[in-house]
Amino acid sequence: MLLDPEQTKRLFHHALANEYAVLAVNADSPAAVVDCLEAARQCQSPIIIETSLWQLTGRSFGLGDPFLGMTRYLSDLSVLASSERYSEIPVVYHTDHIKGPDTLPLLQAAIRGLPAQMGDSVTTLHASSISLDSSELSAEENLATIDALCNTALLSGMEATLEMEAGVDDGVTSLEETRSLFGAAEAANPGYLALWAPGVGTKHGLGSAGGFDPEAVGEHQALASELASRPIGIALHGSSGLSNEQLQAAVAAGVAKVNWSSESLLIRSSAARDYYEAHCDELEKGHPKFKETAMDNGVQEAVSNTYIPRVVERMKTLGAQNQATPALEAMRFFA
Ligand SMILES: [Zn+2]
Repeated sequence: MLLDPEQTKRLFHHALANEYAVLAVNADSPAAVVDCLEAARQCQSPIIIETSLWQLTGRSFGLGDPFLGMTRYLSDLSVLASSERYSEIPVVYHTDHIKGPDTLPLLQAAIRGLPAQMGDSVTTLHASSISLDSSELSAEENLATIDALCNTALLSGMEATLEMEAGVDDGVTSLEETRSLFGAAEAANPGYLALWAPGVGTKHGLGSAGGFDPEAVGEHQALASELASRPIGIALHGSSGLSNEQLQAAVAAGVAKVNWSSESLLIRSSAARDYYEAHCDELEKGHPKFKETAMDNGVQEAVSNTYIPRVVERMKTLGAQNQATPALEAMRFFA
């Protein structure tokens, strides 16, 4: 089931209390979304499906228009997540690296609800949780954007669950910045923040993560929770280069959400390359297997056979196996 913002908050609390992290995959095509849901079902794990601006404006979704992209993405995901197959899997839709002039109006629409015309009726689609890319923003701009998003929720009478970030690629963030950014945002708009994403020595991309500092994770998690007077999870960006041991140390120190993009793209694109290399003869005109090899389902089946087990493996590493039902029970208990 697709979680609303309140349920999403409870999911992060459940993850923190039970010492696991929810895998957040940047799924950039409809087939990738299905593969992630299948992995979550096999592992009986909650899952976060997230999108950055490049996915929303890409050919699979928005064709340059991020509003259309998010509406299409959320329509597809809400139909899938509500289907019987995934009704007992907690599914979060999260906005990941959104930046540039569309950031505020797009995220405000994700909080207020994006209208999707279906025949004669209009359905309104909401993001489960929100973050933005603050890498090109000053601290003041970062705070002002978070403030504007919280005000949007307040004025429109909607719930919102937010992740705030600071310099995730810039080495280890100081605890002073956690006070001046996270602490200030929480003081101005209490209750909206559920996750804090400081720099903890990781880097986006496929490089090594030699600078990863799990102790910093623990310090930031403790301080953010103290500033908010409730448990706040750390969102880990740039996890692709981390070993399983490092991931487990991150979870033990208070990471509740692990973003995964570069390695996920590498697995999918390598599997597609292998498929086309292995079947290139069949792509010739007149070959009897031309159609089954050339159609989209051919390559997507091959990709999912490689990809899904890797997603399951990562969920297990994060301790999330078999947490779907307990997480849903915790949400229903507190509802
Ligand atoms: Zn990131």
